[in-house]
Amino acid sequence: MAIRQIRTIGDDILKKQCKRVKEMNRRTRQLIEDMFDTMYEHNGVGLAASQVGILKQIVVIDVEDGNQYVLINPEIIEQSGSQTDREGCLSVPGKHGMVTRPNHVKVRAMDEDMKEFELEAEEMLARAICHECDHLRGELYVDLVEGELMDNDEEDE
Ligand code: ZN
Repeated sequence: MAIRQIRTIGDDILKKQCKRVKEMNRRTRQLIEDMFDTMYEHNGVGLAASQVGILKQIVVIDVEDGNQYVLINPEIIEQSGSQTDREGCLSVPGKHGMVTRPNHVKVRAMDEDMKEFELEAEEMLARAICHECDHLRGELYVDLVEGELMDNDEEDE
């Protein structure tokens, strides 16, 4: 188990486009394992490789639906509907804001064995997929926040 350091807003690496993963190897498998460890350590529901300083198109997600999703080279191929809810990010500690996302997405990606699969998601999982795919393009949710970015200890009702 290895917890990696999470890069936070202001770090240029978070603005960079991640590169496609061409092959799976030991190092990349280790990275994926560390990404889960790091995400759980900080009570996150998703993490992109760029958040631990690696510019590869790898995302891990666990929205407590009983699955641990690994999305390599993900591509959102369908999206519909909309949902507006509170969003936060481990790279923007102590903050949250309201963000509108599609309510339904279909994503095409590769798994840890570089096998292609498609995943359909709704609600929180769809939100997590959109948020993490944005990271791979160097985008942060703070640019999508409606109204103000708020401190987690601030009343927002
Ligand atoms: Zn994030």
